[in-house]
Parts: sequence; C-alpha cells; structure tokens
Amino acid sequence: PYADPAAGAAVKAADRAHVFHSWSAQGLIDPLAVAGAEGSYFWDYDGNRYLDFTSGLVYTNIGYQHPTVIAAIQEQAGKLATFAPAFAIESRSEAARLIAERTPGDLDKIFFTNGGAEAVENAIRMARLHTGRPKVLSAYRSYHGATSTAINLTGDPRRWPSDNGSAGVVRFWAPFLYRSPFYAQTEAEECARALQHLEDTIAFEGPSSIAAIILETVPGTAGIMTPPPGYLAGVREICDRYGIVFVLDEVMAGFGRTGAWFAADHFDVVPDLLTFAKGVNSGYVPLGGVAISAEIAATFETRPYPGGLTYSGHPLACAAAVATIGVMEDEKVVEHAARIGETVLGPGLRELAERHPSVGEVRGLGAFWALELVRDRETREPLVPYNASGEAAAPMAAFGAAAKKQGLWPFINMNRTHAVPACNVSEAEAKEGLAALDVALSVADTY
Ligand code: PLP
Repeated sequence: PYADPAAGAAVKAADRAHVFHSWSAQGLIDPLAVAGAEGSYFWDYDGNRYLDFTSGLVYTNIGYQHPTVIAAIQEQAGKLATFAPAFAIESRSEAARLIAERTPGDLDKIFFTNGGAEAVENAIRMARLHTGRPKVLSAYRSYHGATSTAINLTGDPRRWPSDNGSAGVVRFWAPFLYRSPFYAQTEAEECARALQHLEDTIAFEGPSSIAAIILETVPGTAGIMTPPPGYLAGVREICDRYGIVFVLDEVMAGFGRTGAWFAADHFDVVPDLLTFAKGVNSGYVPLGGVAISAEIAATFETRPYPGGLTYSGHPLACAAAVATIGVMEDEKVVEHAARIGETVLGPGLRELAERHPSVGEVRGLGAFWALELVRDRETREPLVPYNASGEAAAPMAAFGAAAKKQGLWPFINMNRTHAVPACNVSEAEAKEGLAALDVALSVADTY
C-alpha cells in the first residue's frame, strides 16, 4: 500500500493552520489526510485504505476518478475552460439537454447553480415570484443546504444557530412510520394522517399565503425514509388544489442513488420544480441546478428572472455532467444501483439486523440505505439521543471507530449509519462493506 507519512504530516499541518472546516469546532477536529482515491476506495498517507460507504457526502455516484469523466474534464479544460453564463456554450447546452431528457414530466428547462443549496434558493425564489406568495412549507427531518433560505427550510439541528425565524418558512411533519409523529401503526395510516396534518397546516396558515411545499423525495441525511405509497401523490394533489408550487429536492436522491434516474420516478409524481446537484456529475466539478416545469418557465418567458450566478453552467462542470450521464448510460449504473439494493445491500443489511440487537430498523432502496441503531428494539430508544454530541454520542463514535478499523468509512448521523456506497459499487465491495459492518455492529450491541 501507498505510504508517505511525512507528506501526510505536511498536508495535515497546513490544514490545521489555515483550513476552516464546515460544521466544526475548529480546535476539536482531526481531519484524515487523504492521499488519493479510485472507484469505491480512498487511502491516507499511512498505508490505510478505506472502502467508502459514504460516497463523499453521498455524491460520488460513479465512484472516484472515473477515467471517462476525468478525460472529459481534461478535454474541456483544453478547449474552453470557462465562459460567462449569458452565452450558449456546447457543454452547457448538452448537459441541459441530457438532464431535461431524464427529469420527469415537463421539467424541460434547467437553471444551473454551483451546488444544492443554491438550487434550493433559486427554486424557492421561482416559486415565490410565480405565485406572488411569501410562505414555504418544509418538513422536519430534512436537509436542504446551508445558505440562508435553504438552512431555514432544513428540519435538523444544523438550522438552529442560523434560524432567522423570518424566512417565511413553516415546518410540518412528513411520514416516518418507525418514529411516527401520528401514532400510526401502518403505512396506510401514516400516509393518511400525514396528508391530513399537511392539509390542516395549510388551512391554518392560509392557502393563499403559501408559495411552495418542498420535500426531499426520499429524505437523505435525515434518515432515508421512503415515503409510503400515495403520500407524494397526495401532496401533489394538495398543491394542485391550492395553487402551491411543489418542489422536490433530489440533490441527494437524484441521479441513480435510489436505483432510478430520479426518486420521483418510483412514485409517478411530477413536481413543478426539481432541485439536483451531487450525482449529476458525481461532484467532480461543483454543479447543481433546478429543473423547471413548462408553466413556471412561461412566467419568465417575457419577464426577466431576477437571479444568477457567475459560474451558472460552468463549462468544466457541465462537461463533467455530460460525461457522467454518458457513463451512467453506458455502464447501466442506475440499473446496477437498483439491483445491488435488491440483491446484496437490502438482504445483507436485513440479515445483519437479525443477528444484531442494536439494529432497530433497516430501510432504503438502491444504493441508499439506513440502519436505525437503538438501545432497545422494543422501546426503540435511539442508541444516542437526538442531536447528541461529546460523551453522549460515544456509542456511535465507538461504532464508527470499529468500522474504520475494518477498513470501512461509515456514514454516521445521530443514531443512524447509512450504507450509501457508489451506485456502481461491485457486489464484492458491497459484501466487504457488510462484513465490516457486522464487526462494527457488535460494538453497538454492547450498549
Ligand atoms: N438538499 C439535499 C437533499 C441535500 O442532501 C443537500 C446536501 O447534502 C443539499 C440540498 C445541499 O447541497 P450543497 O451542499 O451542494 O449545497
């Protein structure tokens, strides 16, 4: 294995001296110095290699350093490394066409951003201008990004320090049977009660004041809760009835993650706006965007859209998207994600749950799985309390350390671990990950 500890120490020293990291108390972190990555693996400077069950931040859907995409980025850099957004550029036109051909329904116009949060910001701006209404409804147990509106829409504790309380955001409970906010016993009950709760929220907020409802099609960081049959169709119907714009956030769930091009495809729903980022080009160059319905696009046909970004549709990012979508087609990555979920990850994780009392629930689809870790299966008491940190979060830290010792880099959020490898993870790699989880779960079982 590769090893150059001195080089790693220099990288680490400069990082600690000058890099200000996301979401962190700067003095309390110890970031791993990474030397390289390929496919489903990355390695450090000390001879350790890790199987990445996080896909970065759930975005390297085709794995690291795919040679076709790297070559496309290099070729675009040689041809036209950058150009301003007001012009028609081959890579941008082609990326927009390929994305529009895959997004559901009549979402045929693409506004490009640099990432997911900006996509959400612009989707909400479009919804407000289209409807002339101020409020937006979003779900608890959600993540929509860290910019001003996006963080206010977010239903997890990362919002709290930035919540300005005046972003026009109203939050509601979306369905989640395992921890039902509606005391439901069945998926059908959960679905019906969640829809009634949304109806009631709208009635008391005033339908004519609500511009948009935003939901992650399958909430990601919040726990990979596939909505019950009928829920998203029900939300679509409510939106239609009140003239509310329906925004589906597919920043994490889109581009193959769930074993479909978009998670909305599983539910036969077409939103008015769909946000994407991450998997669109596996994050090789920052890119996100909003796919826009014909009706909302028409609002801005003769009236200027009051929003823009210097790097909207950056040629390098768009060339990476064109190449990534090509790779996903050629190598049948979307079909592979569906199959690996059905035949390896799903059955393998359920088998682990049978043997490990710390696993309260296994849920997911495609390359998008969550294990809910608990102290007690009967009471469903989470292995660590909601939003725990420090000593209170020690059991999850111990689980994570055990996984890393097995050469697996795990995704951890609160009391959950998510199995979210690259969508083209091989069967052997997926099984390797399951074997490492088996060992790490034995540690979780001891609490
Ligand atoms: N929306 C969802 C569903 C996400 O998962 C994320 C990031 O994890 C975002 C939005 C924000 O994307 P970005 O970090 O690219 O701004």
